[in-house]
Amino acid sequence: MDRIIFIVCDGLADRPIKELQGKTPLEGAKKTNLDSLAQRGIVGLVHTIDRGVRPGSDVAHLALFGYNPKVYYTGRGIFEAIGIGMDLRPGDIALRGNFATIDKKHKIIDRRAGRIDNTEELVAALNKINKIEGIKCLFKKGTGHRVGVILRGSGLSAKVSDVDPHIVGRNVSLSKPLEKDKKSAFTATIINQLTQKTHEILSAHKFNTKRIKSNLKPANILLTRGASKAMHILSFKERYDLKALCIAGAGLYKGIARALGMDIIEVAGATGKPDSDISKKIQKAIQMLPKYDFIFIHIKGADSLAEDGDFLGKKKFIEKIDAALKPLTRLEDTLIVLTADHTTSSTLRLHTADPVPVLISGYDIHTDDVLSFTEHDAYKGRLGHLRGLDLMPTILDYLGRAPLYGA
Ligand code: ZN
Repeated sequence: MDRIIFIVCDGLADRPIKELQGKTPLEGAKKTNLDSLAQRGIVGLVHTIDRGVRPGSDVAHLALFGYNPKVYYTGRGIFEAIGIGMDLRPGDIALRGNFATIDKKHKIIDRRAGRIDNTEELVAALNKINKIEGIKCLFKKGTGHRVGVILRGSGLSAKVSDVDPHIVGRNVSLSKPLEKDKKSAFTATIINQLTQKTHEILSAHKFNTKRIKSNLKPANILLTRGASKAMHILSFKERYDLKALCIAGAGLYKGIARALGMDIIEVAGATGKPDSDISKKIQKAIQMLPKYDFIFIHIKGADSLAEDGDFLGKKKFIEKIDAALKPLTRLEDTLIVLTADHTTSSTLRLHTADPVPVLISGYDIHTDDVLSFTEHDAYKGRLGHLRGLDLMPTILDYLGRAPLYGA
């Protein structure tokens, strides 16, 4: 075996649900192919960050790929920016931006400006800001109301608070330094000037005058959050000597993959939503296998459905994943790894720290006695309990690519 298909089903695991007779959506789902992969391999439980730590999707993915988030995670902004194709240089500060609507007293009316989407003109107008106190300001349209923001120049820090108060009805916040150093204070002043400039430019823009005439909310300010600092990260190729490819619908996961030097391939119908065409993603992965050593497939739907409290939808979605996996059960010479980045509880509607099941499946693996791929049965598996960071070394060992310790 010399190749890996690495599937992360976002938020796949759950907790027992009364309406499902105490089963989780995974336990309740019809899933012959997941079970068959589990039977052909070994199973265990992963604490993606550590016991008792509720992971965000971003840090969980870094850990699953073997990159310690305590070292490599400085905030989500950089991955969002990279995900929409912005080029980051070490030292850049990336922020997540939202077009929003505020009133004359700077109170937030709508954090998404009526879920505005056609923002190309507005983004072009913002790019005319060019520089503030010598700091280059770059903007790129993201999906919907979202905008990637990069600050480039010397003396910047990511230790600054958000302008976006995250709550409608509140006033726009001032960015404040979170550490007592010159760089943080300077960056906060740049961000505050930038926010003011976006308000001036956007309020006067004819695009917004038209929106107001049509009774639509104007996108009259850019709210930023999640400042993070770009750093040099060793790529998958440099770190593991694996040529890696990412197949994902949602931007964040493409951003993480791109930050780790993976190639990205777009698949028609991969939406990052429950309607995503999972079969096409799996077929594309199989098609690309001869060219890559490591293919990461991200499947988002189960997480979103659980966050909406839709456990029946989640169960159905897991059945859709299962059906799409059929071609993988017949694949020779390829290691199949499938896990989740965290548990998403459909009753709590949030990520929890419960460990997630993982399977590693391939023809020359010592199997265990686990017949069913579930949260409940995974603890009986041969892999036992792993931290997210242990997964890549384990996989590399199965591939015969783990470095020798000692002589
Ligand atoms: Zn997630």
